[in-house]
Amino acid sequence: SSHVAYRLELTEPRRRQLFGDVSHELRTPLTTIKGSMEGLMDGMLPPNEETYTQIYREADRLQRLVNDLQELSRVEAGAYELHPQLASVKSLVDSAIDRLGRQFEEKGVTLTTQISPDLPQIKADEDRIGQVLLNLVGNALQYTPSGGSVCITATGQPKEVQIAILDTGIGIPPEHLPHVFTRFYRVDKSRSRQVGGSGIGLTIAKYLVEAHGGRIWVESPGAGKGSTFIFTLPSVA
Ligand code: ADP
Repeated sequence: SSHVAYRLELTEPRRRQLFGDVSHELRTPLTTIKGSMEGLMDGMLPPNEETYTQIYREADRLQRLVNDLQELSRVEAGAYELHPQLASVKSLVDSAIDRLGRQFEEKGVTLTTQISPDLPQIKADEDRIGQVLLNLVGNALQYTPSGGSVCITATGQPKEVQIAILDTGIGIPPEHLPHVFTRFYRVDKSRSRQVGGSGIGLTIAKYLVEAHGGRIWVESPGAGKGSTFIFTLPSVA
């Protein structure tokens, strides 16, 4: 297989901004954990399961954040290799469904697919594009209340395959649309924090799709009206 390295230079202001952002992201869960520990130590918080669960959750969130940050830094630095191979979009979608199908059932969100029958093959690193797909479908599940639905579609366009994830969920207000691929950006900070979002997943997805020569974007008619995330990958004629 061929190897493609993808490199992005971090300028000094960008580096400084990044350190500032990271410090900010780490501070919030740390403050919460420290506060709870202090509460336990001076007897203001009861030493019971609820308290421990709360602290554990916050530590868990911190761990996920650090894992996401590590992945982001690898991707931003180009410190990974792509191993593009001939791949079928159908099988990529099938394995995403294998991974997430149960969570959809548990939440009561319908998951359907519409894959064009005569799709050309793509040349992609299956692990990486699988990761992108999992992220987008996982987000669609996360931001769609039970009773809603998510549909994964794939259509052949000239020279590329277009994959879209449509959901009937909470949608995205127009003023936020240009920012959702920016690292640490969340439309609703408090809500997203509750469900453990770090605002990094879409940034990684964008790097990975663009490293494959594709594009990624989002469309939404507005709050409460669902979202559609779309990405393209060059196809093999
Ligand atoms: P997070 O871990 O917070 O979900 P992402 O980078 O995956 O981080 O997404 C960034 C933000 O974009 C989310 O916090 C959320 O506000 C918004 N978002 C992503 N996917 C959806 C979706 N399917 N519907 C509504 N909002 C979404």
